[in-house]
Amino acid sequence: MQLDIPSQLENFIGGNFIGSRSGQFLQNFNPATGEPTSQIPDSNGQDIELAVSAAKKALPAWSNLPAEEKFNILNKIATLIDEHMEAFALAETNDNGKPLWLSKKVDIYRAAANFRFFATGLMHFSSEAHAMEDRAINYTLRQPIGIVGCISPWNLPLYLFTWKIAPAIAAGNCVIAKPSEVTPHTAWLLGKICQEAGLPPGVLNIVHGTGSSCGEAIVKHPEIKAISFTGSTRAGAQIAGIAAPMFKKLSLELGGKNPNIIFADCNWEKMMATTLQSSFANQGQICLCGSRILIEASVYEKFKLEFVEKTKTLKIGDPLLDTTKQGAIVSKMHFDKILAAIETAKAEGGKILCGGQAVQLEGRCSNGLFIQPTIIEGLGPSCKTNTDEIFGPVVTLQPFYSTDEAIALANATDYGLAATIWTQDISIANKMAAQIEAGIVWVNCWLQRDLRTAFGGVKNSGVGREGGWEAMKFFTEAKNVCIEF
Ligand code: NAD
Repeated sequence: MQLDIPSQLENFIGGNFIGSRSGQFLQNFNPATGEPTSQIPDSNGQDIELAVSAAKKALPAWSNLPAEEKFNILNKIATLIDEHMEAFALAETNDNGKPLWLSKKVDIYRAAANFRFFATGLMHFSSEAHAMEDRAINYTLRQPIGIVGCISPWNLPLYLFTWKIAPAIAAGNCVIAKPSEVTPHTAWLLGKICQEAGLPPGVLNIVHGTGSSCGEAIVKHPEIKAISFTGSTRAGAQIAGIAAPMFKKLSLELGGKNPNIIFADCNWEKMMATTLQSSFANQGQICLCGSRILIEASVYEKFKLEFVEKTKTLKIGDPLLDTTKQGAIVSKMHFDKILAAIETAKAEGGKILCGGQAVQLEGRCSNGLFIQPTIIEGLGPSCKTNTDEIFGPVVTLQPFYSTDEAIALANATDYGLAATIWTQDISIANKMAAQIEAGIVWVNCWLQRDLRTAFGGVKNSGVGREGGWEAMKFFTEAKNVCIEF
């Protein structure tokens, strides 16, 4: 199978790669080198109409296909992603700017895992029965919704794309999916893999383009009955504004401003090594990164000294090199946004303890978009720097004097995605876990992911849960059947 990315991408509709009806194109760039890569179609409502027709045609057969046959196809997709790991990882890195080793270890590995997980999941999915003594029995029929839309962001491109698509098709739906226009390449490769794996034409349709043109056309289409969206809180609100009056099922996985809470009694070495990752992995562009570090006052200075020293050793470099810890920022627009946020922090009176600047590398990456990992102190919980999501390699430090103050600081944003707590005191960990407003709490770890667990946020971080049976339930409609004896 030929997996070279073409200079002009096409949509994957009805099992074929076809040009967009819009005739409009967007230019894609490698953020580590500044070089133009492919052009992608900026698809519109006509393209979505085509994709919906293909999905409609495929739906009756796909939704009725025996579970074992669906399993075989999804499992084949997982195997083929694994087999083509190198091509996928290189495409992801060239599109996104993340280190190649990270693309392999996390993004592509987990994209294959998503398909494998939901392939086996569909074989075990069952529903409830409720007996009413000797009067009647109820059983729940879980049926596919029909045609669903999946829209994903650029930070973990294939990983999050497949995290939605795999359960959607496992549950018997047909899908219209849109990757981020900034990172379309691995989604294009996925189309190739689906052809090879024998996924029936029209079950998965991948349409490229901007949020305002292509994304909104998916959200507005009356025959697309559910939308699973991961991205910014801003776009999530726009999508909810359109989809809610149409009574579409909605899963919204949105932004975060997560606290990383460090108590003096924690396992210091493990905390420090993990905090470096939870602050700066993927250039801080993971929705689960701990961008607000809250430190018990008695160890604040000790933490600060060591953390700054270790952060300065993180090697910023060419994403293709194994030694690189910090790759490029995904796009010029996002690069400018992060640097503007650092200026805001300074204007608010924040002290830059390290970083704070763009970096110009030499050689192949001399036109790339790189920013130093940045640590800021001296800002209170209501400053913009501590309330607004930056989504880059920028963290703040704040001291706390009691558990209650730590909880208050942790909850002092409109977001509520994830939190990390570092302590050996199980009572404190339990109290904090119960009182922190977040969908996910890690104690003495970060980014431990079990695909069976519920994943999602509260407050402005979203509505609904993904993962495991939560995802299979989202992508099905429950129908109660009551039979009287
Ligand atoms: P974004 O909201 O700009 O775009 C996300 C996707 O939505 C893209 O495919 C985009 O084209 C599309 N889109 C944008 N506006 C749209 C609209 N009006 N209608 C339909 N589609 C639209 O987000 P981004 O910049 O790509 O990603 C970064 C954001 O994603 C951050 O806020 C981050 O926290 C969030 N994120 C959240 C999670 C989570 O699980 N909660 C995971 C990863 C990223």
